[in-house]
Amino acid sequence: MKPPRFEYAAPASVAEAVALLARSGGGAKPISGGQSLMPLLAFRLAAPEILVDLKRIPGLDKIEIGAAGVTLGAKVRWVDIEKEKRLDTAHPLLAEAIKHVAHYQIRNRGTVGGSVAHADPAAEMPGIAAACDAEIVASGPKGERRIKAADYFVGPLQTTLAADEIITAVHLPAWLKGRRWGFLEFSRRKGDFAMAGVAVFYDPDSAGKATNAHIGVIGMGDKPCRLPKAEAALNGKTVDAATIEAVAKVASAEVDPSGDIHAGPEYRRALVGTLLERALKKASA
Ligand SMILES: Cc1cc2nc3c(=O)[nH]c(=O)nc-3n(C[C@H](O)[C@H](O)[C@H](O)COP(=O)(O)OP(=O)(O)OC[C@H]3O[C@@H](n4cnc5c(N)ncnc54)[C@H](O)[C@@H]3O)c2cc1C
Repeated sequence: MKPPRFEYAAPASVAEAVALLARSGGGAKPISGGQSLMPLLAFRLAAPEILVDLKRIPGLDKIEIGAAGVTLGAKVRWVDIEKEKRLDTAHPLLAEAIKHVAHYQIRNRGTVGGSVAHADPAAEMPGIAAACDAEIVASGPKGERRIKAADYFVGPLQTTLAADEIITAVHLPAWLKGRRWGFLEFSRRKGDFAMAGVAVFYDPDSAGKATNAHIGVIGMGDKPCRLPKAEAALNGKTVDAATIEAVAKVASAEVDPSGDIHAGPEYRRALVGTLLERALKKASA
């Protein structure tokens, strides 16, 4: 199908874009890479009156790496992350997860801001944001605010971003030296959305026991989230085979996936346990 009719604007600054969104009273939508929004328009699942194209706005395409962590501008594309080799040490979990996003053509246009705004529960970037306690930086008519990932994702394709706000960046806290980590997902074909995915990291103490465990999941229900019970089962433990098996069991019981044409809830539940077991084996090896 062809998209419904829409007006088009290409503002040259964040302030101009926000003003356009605010003036439209909810009728306008930003467009970045168009890799999620254009299919929605084509299927007539979205019908904005005005598309506010972010492509002319300068300064939103930077990857900043510093002592405080990694800040990804909203217009950073998957291919930019792939090419930024400093991320292999500055944030290896992010670098690994983004390798799993979609196919070449989509990776060439799809952006961090678009993905986090779209908030697909099976998408990798929202999953990393949730697992790492990222902050979403948003600009609106009242200025800038930083939203913690836990307060940002509320449901499938639903967030606490207001209709007149634009995401300008996503900030990931600093990656600590010596951190152990793993990312694994399962999809039917390479590049498809994940049926299930896990992101795990912990900081071993001087005795090698896990501290600061973070376990995030994607494809497991309404939104990407952390698993506090599984994290508690990992913290304070030596990460050996018995611990890994026990943590995986807790995670399988903690998730609440729904079924779809690809897999039922029981299968997904088992999948998350298996993926976590493998990711923890890799992390502790
Ligand atoms: C066949 C196919 C396979 C895919 N597979 C995967 C996959 O495996 N994993 C994955 O994560 N993604 C996948 N995607 C989605 C892809 O990664 C998208 O690029 C991404 O989700 C959205 O980014 P975008 O820049 O294209 O956003 P757009 O399509 O431009 O916008 C998406 C939504 O975000 C809003 N938006 C965009 N930018 C901003 C902003 N800065 N501030 C506020 N709102 C904004 C738009 O209004 C819209 O609602 C797939 C897409 C396709 C078509």
